[in-house]
Amino acid sequence: MRRLWGKAVYKGVAMGPVAVLKRDERQVKRIGIADPDAEISRLGRAGRQAKEQLRELYEKAVREVGEGGAAIFQVHQMMLEDEGYLEAVREMIRTDMVNAEYAVAVMEGIFSERFAGMDDDYMKARAADVKDISDRLIRNLMGQEDRDYALRKPSVIVADDLSPGETVQMDKKKILAFVTVHGSVNSHTAILARMMNIPALVGVPVDLEDLHSGMTAVVDGFAGEVIFEPSGEVCREMEEKIRRNQEEQLLLQSLKGQENVTLDGHKIDVCANIGGVDDIGCVLENDAGGIGLFRSEFLYLGRDDFPTEEEQFQVYKQVVQAMEGKRVVIRTLDIGADKQADYFNLGREDNPALGYRAIRICLKQPEIFKTQLRALLRAAVFGSLSIMYPMITSVKEVRKIHELVEEAGAELAEAGIPYRIPRQGLMIETPAAVMISDELAELADFFSIGTNDLTQYTLAVDRQNQRLDDFYDPHHEAILKMIQMVVDNAHKCGKWAGICGELGADLELTERFVRMGVDELSVSPSMVLKVRKAVRESRFSA
Ligand code: PEP
Ligand code: MG
Repeated sequence: MRRLWGKAVYKGVAMGPVAVLKRDERQVKRIGIADPDAEISRLGRAGRQAKEQLRELYEKAVREVGEGGAAIFQVHQMMLEDEGYLEAVREMIRTDMVNAEYAVAVMEGIFSERFAGMDDDYMKARAADVKDISDRLIRNLMGQEDRDYALRKPSVIVADDLSPGETVQMDKKKILAFVTVHGSVNSHTAILARMMNIPALVGVPVDLEDLHSGMTAVVDGFAGEVIFEPSGEVCREMEEKIRRNQEEQLLLQSLKGQENVTLDGHKIDVCANIGGVDDIGCVLENDAGGIGLFRSEFLYLGRDDFPTEEEQFQVYKQVVQAMEGKRVVIRTLDIGADKQADYFNLGREDNPALGYRAIRICLKQPEIFKTQLRALLRAAVFGSLSIMYPMITSVKEVRKIHELVEEAGAELAEAGIPYRIPRQGLMIETPAAVMISDELAELADFFSIGTNDLTQYTLAVDRQNQRLDDFYDPHHEAILKMIQMVVDNAHKCGKWAGICGELGADLELTERFVRMGVDELSVSPSMVLKVRKAVRESRFSA
């Protein structure tokens, strides 16, 4: 028995025979040529063949995972039309008088390195796409078939890496799980695995030479582990886990496309919380009604400098477009306290949770804030985007924010850049905001209650301090009464109120929230269907 750990892409459990997929060692030789035009024609034919293959893959993917998941094959088709890349290959054929296979292989290296070196995670991921289309071109030029994906029986696929094309070509019914040595949880392959609801682990340090097809493996996406040749006892344990998981999944899957409606006909929204573009696959897969909280500060973390307006605009635009008209609420920068980025130079504070953070930074350093606001206003043109502001404590702050939004709009207008002023909501996560929620409701389009901070500030319990875990009680009546007060004040002004803190996913409280009149629960994507189930088992009227 051998246990190995990796990063879970999709949480599920599977057990069965291993199918080891080894990549054919590609031997691309440099061959001198005499007729570059003939070579360029050969490249053209390989390109047309590749586009045709990608079109077929796209259609298969649309049938199996829907348009969102299939989009990657359209991206690959577009990349095959990218003149920068193709011209570089043709130029090399002409000037170095070399065969097309060799020129493609060299340009693959150059272009994928260029993408891999970019700061932006989205652009980084394009390196794998360049590799994918180059491999396809080379295979076509060499007259090779794709890797053989015809699995004889349902198997746990173990590979060094899998491209989206390879993933889609496999017969979904015969894939029990994926285990790969490389690959990121945010890759398109990972997104496809999630959409196909297939347990998958990436980054598993396994040597394929130590494995053989036919041996048994158990993949536990909840624990992030794979066990090769499990003992009889482990097999029994896993069989039980698989059975329980299957029962629950079946039940949850049947809720996709259903309304979040109580037994007595009251409807609410169930949306998802995300930290970036890469979570969108999971949001769609779980049929969320929209995005109730996009924690935009994640764009600012783990880097050396501020994200530019353009970088932010691209991300926000991508998210609203991917959500195809469903509401996307983007929370403005909530940095500080536990979320630190060196380049903000925030300095040490005795009480960081009570310190210089979130909207306070934005109001004190309006240039940082306005860069984000301009990006948001521009992205609002592309779909249903709303903004909300964190850590509000006063009416004065909200008035100042509105002035800055106007200024950001005026700057865009002057530069002739299209924009739209989106709906603007407030996060209610301080006791002060709760107590003046009647006044704030006049100034806001909606409220979203941040129960994580609201609990910390109401109970005077640092949410980061593990020793206080027993005192951090979001079920405290003080919190529940505050939620009721906020919802009532919102409704008096004809506005809606949701919960986006962790408490929103607490299934013990779903019925209570519904009865309080909460209009939206925004939870982690994997909780969406569970919350839907709880809503559908609740009654609005006592
Ligand atoms: C909250 O405080 O409940 C919230 C949703 O915001 P965060 O957890 O990001 O502070
Ligand atoms: Mg908060």
